[in-house]
Amino acid sequence: MEDVIIIGGSFAGLTAAMQLGRARRKVTVLDTGLNRNRYAEAAHNIFGHDGTSPRELLARAREQISAYPTVKLINAKAEKAAGNTDDFRITTSDGADIAGRRLILSYGIVDEFPDLPGFAEAWGKTVIHCPFCHGYEVAGKRWGLVYSSPMSLHGPALYSHWTDDITLFLDGHEIIDAERSKLEKRGVRIVDAPLGAIEQEGGSIRAVVLNDGSSIALDALYAHPRNRPSANLNEQLGLETRETPTGIMLAVNEMQATSREGVYAAGDLAMAMHSVTFATNAGSIAAMGALQSITE
Ligand SMILES: Cc1cc2nc3c(=O)[nH]c(=O)nc-3n(C[C@H](O)[C@H](O)[C@H](O)COP(=O)(O)OP(=O)(O)OC[C@H]3O[C@@H](n4cnc5c(N)ncnc54)[C@H](O)[C@@H]3O)c2cc1C
Repeated sequence: MEDVIIIGGSFAGLTAAMQLGRARRKVTVLDTGLNRNRYAEAAHNIFGHDGTSPRELLARAREQISAYPTVKLINAKAEKAAGNTDDFRITTSDGADIAGRRLILSYGIVDEFPDLPGFAEAWGKTVIHCPFCHGYEVAGKRWGLVYSSPMSLHGPALYSHWTDDITLFLDGHEIIDAERSKLEKRGVRIVDAPLGAIEQEGGSIRAVVLNDGSSIALDALYAHPRNRPSANLNEQLGLETRETPTGIMLAVNEMQATSREGVYAAGDLAMAMHSVTFATNAGSIAAMGALQSITE
């Protein structure tokens, strides 16, 4: 019987594994190797590792964790979750059954790309989701933002510290006149027509092509696609969720405990703001929560 089974061995999950391994707890980490930022060549805004590739960060973490003899890192997909505190069961896609006293869910979220030619090719390169992660490199250049929710209307004020050349693509959505004139006063160009394609070469965006055939040249495009949990184990376990502007997150308390006793969640799966630092922080708290509940 494992003390903790961790599902998802990326930033949140491996941080939890390290903490539990150092506490000499028996841990199994299941992972399928699809960290959300795998599309980006470099990860930014990370303490001591600014500009390191996500692959290298994770490989180093795995190597360091493998030095802890009580932690098993297994490349496998968790397919089924059942059971209760002190007796959870995880079944992998290979048919293996693993028993654990606590669960930490850190399997992240999947971005659902819009059906827009060129979007997937440029995602994580010049079509990006977060200026703190990838804005500095394109500061002062021509930025676009695709409207995805009323939250998008706050983007231009934030982005104005990076560039004063901002185009908001409403992509067929309506906004009220007061919002439109506020943005225009800021110097934001507003384009109403739906998007037709992203013109790009090797991931570098050249322009946004509208469905009327016209195009607007850009150097970076911000977009916030809808997302969903990467697995449905949270549904199998009946966990409570909360709405976010782009999807859902698992509801957790200050120790990352979910609505079901013995089940903790961390990382993008359980927060509305997404970064490596937030994920590692939450992973560490989840490990502490799981450990405290075992010790008590
Ligand atoms: C394009 C892009 C670029 C980004 N750049 C940055 C950046 O520069 N700096 C920054 O701080 N943040 C960046 N982020 C955000 C960052 O990627 C996430 O916040 C972070 O990856 C969240 O870590 P996580 O551990 O919660 O989930 P993830 O890193 O997404 O990892 C989840 C893991 O769970 C595994 N998994 C899924 N389902 C299962 C299953 N059923 N069984 C077993 N394993 C499973 C996956 O394979 C994956 O390894 C970026 C995001 C994107 C989309």
